[in-house]
This record gives sequence, structure tokens and C-alpha cells, in this order.
Amino acid sequence: MDENGILFVLSGPSGVGKGTVRKELFEQEDDLAYSISMTTRERRAGEQDGVDYFYKTNQQFEQLIADNELLEYARFVNNYYGTPRRYVENTLAAGQDVFLEIEVQGAMQVKDNFPEGVFIFLFPPSLDELKSRITSRGTESQDAVLKRLQEARSEIDMMDAYDYVVVNDDVQKAVMKIQSIIQSEHCRRDRI
Ligand code: 5GP
Repeated sequence: MDENGILFVLSGPSGVGKGTVRKELFEQEDDLAYSISMTTRERRAGEQDGVDYFYKTNQQFEQLIADNELLEYARFVNNYYGTPRRYVENTLAAGQDVFLEIEVQGAMQVKDNFPEGVFIFLFPPSLDELKSRITSRGTESQDAVLKRLQEARSEIDMMDAYDYVVVNDDVQKAVMKIQSIIQSEHCRRDRI
């Protein structure tokens, strides 16, 4: 039996609903550890430091990069986002599963470091639906919305690099599929 936890990575285009699916998954799962990311983006209304993200200045973030404190990082729509390395490594070593919800460039870096991780791509029901979700969020400038749409198209091209694809046409169904993936991966690895 493998005593380390399993690293699950949920990724997919901006606007596909990764955050919503992840939050709902964590309402139902007690055995997963969510890795809270670092970011330089501004805090949105209702978000909390240390809960949604660890909010950093550019200078602080660049110091984390220089100190090799990040497992992966990416620039996304003019901001940095990154995963704290020590938290992930220590939690996995303690035998607990870790769950990341990150964009595609970062997921591909994690895949280089953790090829044994489980990579799940959340897919939009359609591109039109994705566009309306990004546009209707209302928290972004027009320029940022356009950039997010461009990113989304190139992110979809990376789908083949993932182990699983989950279509997010319904949040509860998407969560159930992710729970099935988690269970299956445990059954697969628990063979003696
Ligand atoms: P938002 O600004 O909407 O919270 O997040 C923008 C994008 O950054 C989303 O696709 C989100 O999944 C991604 N993201 C969040 N945390 C990380 C991280 O630690 N690393 C990377 N590469 N992307 C992240």
C-alpha cells in the first residue's frame, strides 16, 4: 500500500466553474486537504486572506519564486498565482490527499514534478456558455474579460494531457464524478 497521500489537480478554462465545483466538493469531503494558493490579484468582495488565497505583493511573490517556495506558478491575466510547495509536500508525506484548483499552465508544471498526480480537466458544456459565465461575473474590466476568453481557448487545447475530463453541465453531477475519481484512484493504488 502507498502511504503517501494522492495529489488531485482540478484544472480547466477560466469561467468553467472550477471554484464553485471545488467549494461544493469540500462541503462534502472531509478527507481532502485543499491547498490555498498565493496570488497577487486584488481581493474580491467577500474573499478572505488565508481562506480563499494568501494575498501577496509582486515583490513578496517574486521572493517566494526566488526561494523555491512554489511548486508551480503562473501569470494569469496580469497577476501571479502559485501553489505553496512545502504545504503540499508535507501533507502528502503525512498520508493525506491534497487537492489543487489551478489554471492549466500551472497544472502542466505540477505534472512535470508529480507525474503520479491525478489530473482532472473540468470542461464547459459549450464555448458559448463559457463566454456568458466569464462575461456575467461582472467583477472584471472588459479588457480582463477578453483576456480570460483568449486564455480559455488555449486552455481547452491542453485537455489531452489530463487523466480525466468532467463536463460541468451540473455542479452536483460534476462533484459526484470527481468523488468517483477519488475513490477509483484509491482502489487502484491500494492493491498490495
Ligand atoms: P481567480 O482570479 O478567478 O480566483 O483565478 C484565476 C485562475 O487562477 C483560475 O483559473 C484559478 O483556478 C487559477 N489559480 C488559482 N490558484 C492558482 C495557483 O496556485 N496556481 C495556478 N497556476 N493557478 C491558480
